[in-house]
This record gives sequence, structure tokens and C-alpha cells, in this order.
Amino acid sequence: MEKKNSYIISLGLPMVSTFAIIYAINTNDDFLLYLMISALITGLLAIFVGNVKKRNLAESFALGYLFSLIGVVLVAILPSPIDISNKKNCPFCKELINIEATKCPFCQSVLNDKEQG
Ligand SMILES: [Zn+2]
Repeated sequence: MEKKNSYIISLGLPMVSTFAIIYAINTNDDFLLYLMISALITGLLAIFVGNVKKRNLAESFALGYLFSLIGVVLVAILPSPIDISNKKNCPFCKELINIEATKCPFCQSVLNDKEQG
């Protein structure tokens, strides 16, 4: 997911919830209040699980918020997207490896830092 979308989710969902909670309190709508608070709780739970699984936190929150406990389970079981910010391609076998690797784990080639992978 793009960064821009993450910002929209991490700002938008809590804002919508806040308005919904205020509306629920004003109208004495216990069900809506319960729904919004439980959505926030499962959202936070999903953030906690997402943090452990090294996932995008805004995305995790959205899953927990929108799909409740099912979303939390999804955050827990879906494979983490590969973070390529600290990866490079091996110049010999072109596999994706850690940017600080001095030896390729795939083809065992010794990597020289000066040559750009
Ligand atoms: Zn290699």
C-alpha cells in the first residue's frame, strides 16, 4: 500500500470514529457506541499484531477496524510484504539480498561493496 493511503487510513478512520462516537453519545445510541468502541479496540489489537509481524501499521489498523477480530486474524496469518528498502540485487545471480551482505546467500559469491549491485 502506498504511503499516501496509509496516512488517509491512519487519520481518516479515527476521525470518522470520533464523530460516530460523539453522534452515538448525543443520540444515546448504545449499539453504535459499542460498535465504534469495539472497532477501535480491534483496530488497536491489529496494530499490536501488525507490529509483531512487521506489517504496515495503518493497513493493520484498517483490517482490525473494518473486519473486527477476523481482521486481526488476517493481520496475524497473511504473509508480511517483503521490505525492499534495505535490499539489493546480487550482481552475480540477481537474487534480492540484504544491502549490507558481503556474501550472497544464494550463489555464495563474495560481494565487493564498491561494485554497485
Ligand atoms: Zn548471488
